[in-house]
Amino acid sequence: PVESPPVEPSAAERYVVLVELIQSYRAAYYNEDAPLVSDAEFDLLYSELETLEALHPQLVSNDSPTQVVGGDVSVAFAAVEHLARMYSLEDVFSLAELEAWLLKAAASVENRGGTAPKWLTELKIDGLAVNLLYRDGVLVRAATRGDGTTGEDVTHNVATIKDIPQKLHGSGFPAEVEIRGEVFIGSKDFLALNEVMVAAGKAPYANPRNTAAGSLRQKDAAETAKRPLSMFVHGIGAREGLTTATQSETYELLKSWGMPISPYYKVLDTLPEVMDFIAYYGEHRHDLIHEIDGIVVKVDDLATQRELGHTSRVPRWSVAYKYPPEEVHTKLLDIRVNV
Ligand code: NAD
Repeated sequence: PVESPPVEPSAAERYVVLVELIQSYRAAYYNEDAPLVSDAEFDLLYSELETLEALHPQLVSNDSPTQVVGGDVSVAFAAVEHLARMYSLEDVFSLAELEAWLLKAAASVENRGGTAPKWLTELKIDGLAVNLLYRDGVLVRAATRGDGTTGEDVTHNVATIKDIPQKLHGSGFPAEVEIRGEVFIGSKDFLALNEVMVAAGKAPYANPRNTAAGSLRQKDAAETAKRPLSMFVHGIGAREGLTTATQSETYELLKSWGMPISPYYKVLDTLPEVMDFIAYYGEHRHDLIHEIDGIVVKVDDLATQRELGHTSRVPRWSVAYKYPPEEVHTKLLDIRVNV
């Protein structure tokens, strides 16, 4: 085996600083819904940590931020075990990296004897993930992602969201299915909400993502009911009696049952088509129903998804391309100077 270079004291020190910073920023973002830095600053620190770990694999511990799904379970909520784990997404920040990722995934599918995968391309909604458990078509529980294994019980709060049916429409439902999606506040609703705040002499909310997260994670569901929350489905977890073969086919079935499915998703055959999708939404990112921070590309075929599996943090059949930040603060430089 190739030996990793010895860790210099300065690298080891930087490593500890990075882990502590990222953990504290994650706590503020996920638990308080009040980030201390911009996403771009956070992503830079996270990339630096990944680079350090790639250089010095001996530094990586099981609880490194690169190995766990960020987010805890607040004591304000009952803890809920997801039936199937929830994951984060692997991020790439350039089109070259995305292309390399897609080619590698396609090669891995073909090496296993599969045919070239079809790509399900979606917008990466800037909100927070929920896991909805339906038994025989009835919503029995809703939870936040939490650390991926255990989330927070937000069933009463979710009951106030008009987009999410308490009972699926029609018939022929699976015995059990976990439907995952992103709860968000639409761009128009966010503007209207802030107009009301300002008219009442109150400070406006900073951004839709944290307002959506804070609104869903209210102790009092009556407060959640006052906020204009929406949702789009972006995944499925445990399923029993659901026989669809692809994720897109599943979306269409869920749509017929009254679940909110994004109007923006596409199933594409080739890499240039995926690149066009990215270019199009890069140009139109402010003309959409909701804010986005990137594009998610998934292998559409469910059997292939199962074959490719996942790491401790992310699925191996999906990747998130993040658009370049539109505004980067300089605080990171201050942090670097201070350590
Ligand atoms: P992520 O946001 O990069 O990706 C995973 C999540 O994307 C999923 O759990 C799901 O909720 C969401 N998502 C939205 N649209 C989706 C779609 N179409 N398909 C699948 N999933 C979709 O990962 P993460 O671990 O939740 O968070 C990391 C990101 O959050 C960082 O890259 C950073 O931008 C932000 N963050 C910021 C701070 C901060 O202090 N500003 C702190 C922590 C995290």
